[in-house]
Amino acid sequence: GNEVTVSITVVGASGDLAKKKIFPALFALYYEGFLPKHFTVCGYARSKMTDVELRNMVSKTLTCRIDQRENCNEKMEQFLKRCFYHSGQYDSQENFAALDKKLKEHEGGRASNRLFYLSIPPNIFVDAVKCASLSASSGNGGWTRVIVEKPFGRDSESSAALTKSLKQYLTEDQIFRIDHYLGKELVENLSVLRFSNLIFEPLWSRQYIRNVQLIFSEDFGTEGRGGYFDNYGIIRDIMQNHLLQILALFAMETPVSLDAEDIRNEKVKVLRSMRPIKLEDIVLGQYKNHTRGGVAYPAYVDDKTVPKGSLTPTFAAAALFIDNARWDGVPFLMKAGKALHNKRAEIRVQFRHVPGNLYNRNFGSDLDRATNELVIRVQPDEAIYLKINNKVPGLGMKLDRSNLNLHYAARYSKEIPDAYERLLLDAIEGERRLFIRSDELDAAWSLFTPVLNEIEDKKITPEYYPYGSRGPVCAHYLAARYNVRWGDLGLEVEQ
Ligand code: NAP
Repeated sequence: GNEVTVSITVVGASGDLAKKKIFPALFALYYEGFLPKHFTVCGYARSKMTDVELRNMVSKTLTCRIDQRENCNEKMEQFLKRCFYHSGQYDSQENFAALDKKLKEHEGGRASNRLFYLSIPPNIFVDAVKCASLSASSGNGGWTRVIVEKPFGRDSESSAALTKSLKQYLTEDQIFRIDHYLGKELVENLSVLRFSNLIFEPLWSRQYIRNVQLIFSEDFGTEGRGGYFDNYGIIRDIMQNHLLQILALFAMETPVSLDAEDIRNEKVKVLRSMRPIKLEDIVLGQYKNHTRGGVAYPAYVDDKTVPKGSLTPTFAAAALFIDNARWDGVPFLMKAGKALHNKRAEIRVQFRHVPGNLYNRNFGSDLDRATNELVIRVQPDEAIYLKINNKVPGLGMKLDRSNLNLHYAARYSKEIPDAYERLLLDAIEGERRLFIRSDELDAAWSLFTPVLNEIEDKKITPEYYPYGSRGPVCAHYLAARYNVRWGDLGLEVEQ
């Protein structure tokens, strides 16, 4: 008939990301009724597996949300029936032709749209894209799209080479470059907060904002998976993509519309307005071993998959500037690290001091704390809160800091979908807003490549910080140079 079907092929289906994220996200979409009536999920990898074995593997990682416990098992069964497996090499057109044949059987003569999710190491991206495109594209008027995950190269040159190779087989609008941070609920909400409330946008500039902080921390190290990481380091792994993407969304001008091209046009303008990063505006760290409470935590270089004596940073802090009229002189501070004392991703906006503040006396010398701060906690325990100064109730005049708090768990009973659900759904629907366009990627690499080269050429030694600590002390000196105090140092009024 004329009905359309979508076939989703997970390339690298035997791997970690496929199990942890992709299959569970596809199931969640199915459960919620977001997948089209006719769909097929096909796992592809070199490992030998039967359909039943794939289903067993996948079934172990599927979960239902609290509000979906009813008929969960039944839904899982129905979903698993639509999952198949095909074993093949990533560089064999013949193997992909056999996959094509299998997909056609399941598509049953319907017009077919085909989505390939590349969940494989980057050195085989191009091979897989070539084979998928030449041997397993949708043949009958449907679309063919490919989702790729970072790393998109490791500098301007390798990234451009990858883009060029991919474009031998795909057009730009077939390539969906995932930055899963853009699929996170609170990052999506950033634009809603700015553009649908009267009270934030007028303050969103150098006139009222003193500094912006983008903070990412993990409370674990590489734990035996350092092989990939060591070749990249924290700047490439977190800053050049996730934190910079959030910065661009945060700082962009109002887009003409919510169309993907309009939004990405504004983001790329921010990236291109950024001042080149100086080496002195970067602090590097690497975690060292540490014993706490009788437990010995390893150093980064104790990881068997990390080369001895590696200088790869597992922590970095940086001061960035956007040289445009809105943000001239406002420091955007980034901080990202592994093996720190907590696990968190957040945006902190510190506003200027109140000019001629009548109430200064109440704060004594701690004037810094008397300013407003907006915190957007992306993960975990999503929240948006605004620190305000108010009077402690009672006679007399004593001021206090409180949070106006939108705490998602308290406000919404619904569980927040995983970023991969949103991104997969968008890729199926052809919504490109949350995917990285190639000129954005180029601009992001142009910003970081020179300083990354300098770090490597000069073999800069990172400052060693204990596993589970708050990171290198140098990060505070960097912030202090721009009159900034990191906002995540536990001065919090926790509510
Ligand atoms: P993975 O488990 O290392 O690899 C996925 C599959 O690719 C493996 O099951 C294996 O399947 C095949 N493979 C592995 N090494 C190969 C090699 N040298 N040559 C040919 N095939 C090889 O990777 P992953 O953790 O699932 O991640 C997939 C992709 O997503 C990677 O590009 C990674 O950088 C990216 N990524 C991962 C995460 C994460 O949380 N894991 C997060 C962000 C991005 P067969 O042996 O069966 O063919």
